[in-house]
Amino acid sequence: MSSAPVHSQLGSVRRPIVAANWKMHTTPTEARDLAVKISEAITDAPGVELVICPPAISLYNVRKALDSTIGVGAQNIYWKDAGPFTGEISAAMLVGVCEYAIIGHSERRQHFGETDEAVHLKVRAALTHGLTPIVCVGETLAQREAGQTNDLIAYQVRGALHGISPEELSSVVMAYEPVWAIGTGIAASGDDANAVALRIRSVLESIGGSDAAQAVRIQYGGSVTAANAAEFLSQAEIDGALVGGASLKPLEFAAIVQAAAARIV
Ligand code: PEP
Repeated sequence: MSSAPVHSQLGSVRRPIVAANWKMHTTPTEARDLAVKISEAITDAPGVELVICPPAISLYNVRKALDSTIGVGAQNIYWKDAGPFTGEISAAMLVGVCEYAIIGHSERRQHFGETDEAVHLKVRAALTHGLTPIVCVGETLAQREAGQTNDLIAYQVRGALHGISPEELSSVVMAYEPVWAIGTGIAASGDDANAVALRIRSVLESIGGSDAAQAVRIQYGGSVTAANAAEFLSQAEIDGALVGGASLKPLEFAAIVQAAAARIV
């Protein structure tokens, strides 16, 4: 099996990246229409990398409906290329259909038993096939209250990314998503999210060195809205947002993208 080229970010200025995670919402027709509405609502954010992650059944529709300035991502992949894995979709199958893959979302860890080792294998598969992984990490409320956030984050980041070369590492997008903030309407504070992003970057440095760690884009996700987006996107260590509920509303999502564009000076 040959490897696709890695989209190395070594030496690049970190470009803001905002991704929409539609979760299990929208029929294929609705997904196509929503993608078009979002692309029409975002009129002036040329420096922001945009990614739309519809349900798997709509990846192809959404890719066809958008031009190449907007990326499309899967919400999950399987690490084997092909075989007797009923219901799964491999990274290999997605080549030419989308360019990104969310990996290790807490809903997959929680409801589908996804382990750190599975996350690692999926990251490897994504990189092998030239998909940019958006790797999610984050603590539960109980872990936060027990003072375990930093250790848990380090464990998840190492579990996902150990053994990955600096060049590959630089191409990975991290998403810090506290589990207690996802879909609850209770977002982290900008300062707390920035502190965890700093922690993530220091673990990345221990894996792949300073240049790679500095190149990695880190998103915040968890109840991001148009009203609070600037609080996160103005933080030094936060380079973008992973947006669930608010990404189903074109004008609200466009306003979040605008907050990311304000990072570019
Ligand atoms: C998500 O699904 O990754 C997410 C952050 O959801 P929400 O924005 O709805 O909290």
